[in-house]
Amino acid sequence: MKTVGVLALQGDFEAHAGAFARAGARAAEVRTVEQLEAVDALVIPGGESTTMLKLMSYYGLFEPLKAFAAAKPVFGTCAGAILLAGEVLNPPQASLNVLDMTIERNAYGRQLASHVARLRGHALDGDAELEAVFIRAPIIRRVGDSGKILATHNGDPVLVDFGRHLVATFHPELTQDSRVHKLFLRKVEAR
Ligand code: GLN
Repeated sequence: MKTVGVLALQGDFEAHAGAFARAGARAAEVRTVEQLEAVDALVIPGGESTTMLKLMSYYGLFEPLKAFAAAKPVFGTCAGAILLAGEVLNPPQASLNVLDMTIERNAYGRQLASHVARLRGHALDGDAELEAVFIRAPIIRRVGDSGKILATHNGDPVLVDFGRHLVATFHPELTQDSRVHKLFLRKVEAR
């Protein structure tokens, strides 16, 4: 069985570990380069992308994470999606620059800072609607040709497949529905 690492510098990494356990996979927390080298795939969780960016540099993980993403699957949720995007807006911010997409931080405004949506018409197993928890979420403003949009909310992409990689602007680890995690696990097992 492959091991999925969960970047555990900041944010809701523990919930991802629980979600992978429910999906039948082994997860391990990653805080060091050695731990990163020991996993087959990585999740970058939700949290505060600015803080995570600082901690990545502090712990010498920035370049190793870029190298990891060049070879292995990475799944970014919310702040994790921001850190993987090639271009970040509101305000512009550095990133690992892994995916050809533009993302705008905190894009739902104050009133809608956190909300739960039920997504229909998604491209996941089974057509049951998908509960999506948005917390100070970003909006993906542009998806390059390498991205395939799997789900939208108000017309904006919220779940995008980038071949080896996957991004969600919501928090699939906070619901009991394992379909998004299972989708990522299929990418991991296929390698
Ligand atoms: N607002 C956060 C950021 O810009 C992301 C929020 C989240 O990950 N839930 O980094």
